[in-house]
Amino acid sequence: MSSAMSHCIQTVLGGVEVHQLTGPILPHEHIVVDFSRGIVAPPRGLEWLIQARLNLGNLGKIRQYPYSVQRNLVMDDVQEMASELEMFRAAGGATICELSCVGVSVGVEGTGVRCGAAYIGCSWPLHPTEEKALRAASALQRTLGRHEQCPFQILDILESSGADITRVCITHNDRTFPPQSPRLLDLVSRGCYLNISLFGKECSHYQYDSSADMPSDAQRIEMVKRLLDAGHRDRILVSHDVVCRHELRRYGGHGYTHLLEHVVPKMMDRGIDQGTIASITTNNPRHWLTPLSVS
Ligand SMILES: [Zn+2]
Repeated sequence: MSSAMSHCIQTVLGGVEVHQLTGPILPHEHIVVDFSRGIVAPPRGLEWLIQARLNLGNLGKIRQYPYSVQRNLVMDDVQEMASELEMFRAAGGATICELSCVGVSVGVEGTGVRCGAAYIGCSWPLHPTEEKALRAASALQRTLGRHEQCPFQILDILESSGADITRVCITHNDRTFPPQSPRLLDLVSRGCYLNISLFGKECSHYQYDSSADMPSDAQRIEMVKRLLDAGHRDRILVSHDVVCRHELRRYGGHGYTHLLEHVVPKMMDRGIDQGTIASITTNNPRHWLTPLSVS
């Protein structure tokens, strides 16, 4: 990273000074993405889902089996996505971290769009290739300014590779941990950020692991409150991880505005004060994005 860029966060508009990020930031979303590799065979009797086009008549089924619908896994209409982002801005949103960029160090070829985040999805047990990627990401952190991964072994690998754990964000904790799990507090005690990243996905069934119960937004807010009560206000991030077409407002989904329009009021109703909400939605993600060289 050049010295001119070292105090900036990479955005689609080029380098932006950290202090210029003044509004709510969504730290884990996807905007233009092809998630076809995530396709899951539909259950017996619902084979038609594979070729389905989204409409009100099948939306209920698609919410249960979103990863069985080919077209649902591709968000590639730039105009459509631009109007979703306009809605986010109109709701008071300021910045979205797009985690589906191609090319960690160079960005999207030929567009000038740069990648700011290194997002590494991991399975369990960790595949040797994932471990290799984690070690490579540790090396990249000094250049990109931050990271994000999944639980304890990942942190061990990162730590042993020299990563600064205080800039690592573990995402999807609301999928990984049951709402009352004490392991959530063990994890945040390691010093990383925890992203409760799946707000708006209000469906108990999780297609990738039917033994896991996905929580409700109310339970996600309870997780946030547990972290707050344990003194981890400055380690909490929140997001939607929008990755499927049915999650867009245009198709009857919650979109990128759900946190600001529905979750924040519910947080306040549950006793979380405005200053704390500003920390969670703005200050924490801004600090997470701040290059290591600035702090
Ligand atoms: Zn994601």
